[in-house]
Amino acid sequence: HWGRIRARMQVEVGEVEYRTWLRQIRLGEVEADEITLLLPTRFLRDWVRSQYGDRLSTLWHAEVPHIRRVELQLAAEEARERPAAADHAVPAGSAPVVVVASAGGVKPGHAAPPAEPGIARGELAAPLDPRFSFDSFVVGKPNEFAHACARRVAERPSSPGFNPLFLYGGVGLGKTHLMHAIGLELARGERTTTVAYMSAEKFMYRFIAAIRSQSTMEFKEQLRSVDVLMIDDLQFLIGKDNTQEEFFHTFNALVDAGKQIVVSADKSPSDLSGLEDRLRTRLGCGMVADLHATTFELRISILEAKAAASGVAVPPKVLEFLAHKITTNVRELEGALNRLIAHANLFGRPVTLEATQEVLHDILKAHDRRVTIEEIQRKVAEHWNIRLTDMSSARRARAVARPRQVAMFLAKQLTSRSLPEIGRKFGNRDHTTVMHAVSRVAELMERDTAFAEDVELLRRMLES
Ligand code: ADP
Ligand code: MG
Repeated sequence: HWGRIRARMQVEVGEVEYRTWLRQIRLGEVEADEITLLLPTRFLRDWVRSQYGDRLSTLWHAEVPHIRRVELQLAAEEARERPAAADHAVPAGSAPVVVVASAGGVKPGHAAPPAEPGIARGELAAPLDPRFSFDSFVVGKPNEFAHACARRVAERPSSPGFNPLFLYGGVGLGKTHLMHAIGLELARGERTTTVAYMSAEKFMYRFIAAIRSQSTMEFKEQLRSVDVLMIDDLQFLIGKDNTQEEFFHTFNALVDAGKQIVVSADKSPSDLSGLEDRLRTRLGCGMVADLHATTFELRISILEAKAAASGVAVPPKVLEFLAHKITTNVRELEGALNRLIAHANLFGRPVTLEATQEVLHDILKAHDRRVTIEEIQRKVAEHWNIRLTDMSSARRARAVARPRQVAMFLAKQLTSRSLPEIGRKFGNRDHTTVMHAVSRVAELMERDTAFAEDVELLRRMLES
């Protein structure tokens, strides 16, 4: 299987990337539902985990369906005990984890290594991901309300009006981060608070396992003994009626006993059609907080914070470029920045805009604005009142050549097409012609404000 998966990765990522990052992976232990892959250095392990972890899990699962988890470890660590929490924290969004952390007992970071993945016993403390703290959460307009609610729950769980706390929003906007932050904060506090965090998927998985092993009573008791129960990605329970039923009962039992519930989902309770009405009603009767899509300002702040934490100097221009290009999901934004930082560290080269475009070529391509070169040509031709065919014609009259250059300039700025690709769309011109056009327009924009305003206007029109 491993041979096939390697070959597959090699094809997917290309030879260079494969040799740089993936060739050194060795197959470690194979357990019933978990595969361990070994890497020689901490850096490689973190890198492979963040960039390829999900893909490796998917491929393994496709190859061997009962494999539910791929664990990446340091090769030397194999025989030794697993060290700090961060070392086996699972990357966000990959395998589901149950985290039961008790503040009075084991501190995150010094937790005993999990005896088995998935954790069956409530006392067994697996660390919450220490990266997802309130400290590392950047607050801005789109998330300030959700953040404030999460803080409030972490300070005073089970306050009236905040129970349950229902966090919702699109993928990668920080729901999981905030839930972990609540857990981490509670685990730091003086009071002994038992926190259980799990994905809804894991909740179902454990519930079914409990039914099979006829230990549903135990499962229920365990759940009902916690002070704070957090269930992530509740939308997973849509269509899973039995699990919903069980969750509903647990939910009621906990709330009645004055325990705090935190739930996340991709939609608001009222929009989660497919969940039972009575469950939706109860979910909506505490505090419902929405994580909105990020704004440019928030994306910049997040990037600044992460760049500063990495210790690598990333020029503001590069941060702005990323914040413009990758707009949907903070995870991807972060992933892009991490890759840049890793390259800078690995090759000791400064981060520049050019290097960014090169290193992130594939990501940027996927995030290309929907703007096409044809659209750019059309808008620019309209603006200066020339014929569209002149974008590709050989005519060199200034009245035609200048708009053509602007269109090339915008094509370079707004798409991630390469210079030769752009050249081809403009009547098979050479890439040096495009390069010349780009620098010529930039130069003119500096000298001629009216012209610069025209170009800016066109750019904004094309972007919106
Ligand atoms: P969700 O659960 O909503 O899909 P996550 O909480 O997993 O999203 O967030 C995705 C990634 O983006 C995580 O690595 C998280 O740390 C990061 N992230 C999201 N929002 C913020 C923020 N406001 N500040 C810092 N990091 C963030
Ligand atoms: Mg999440």
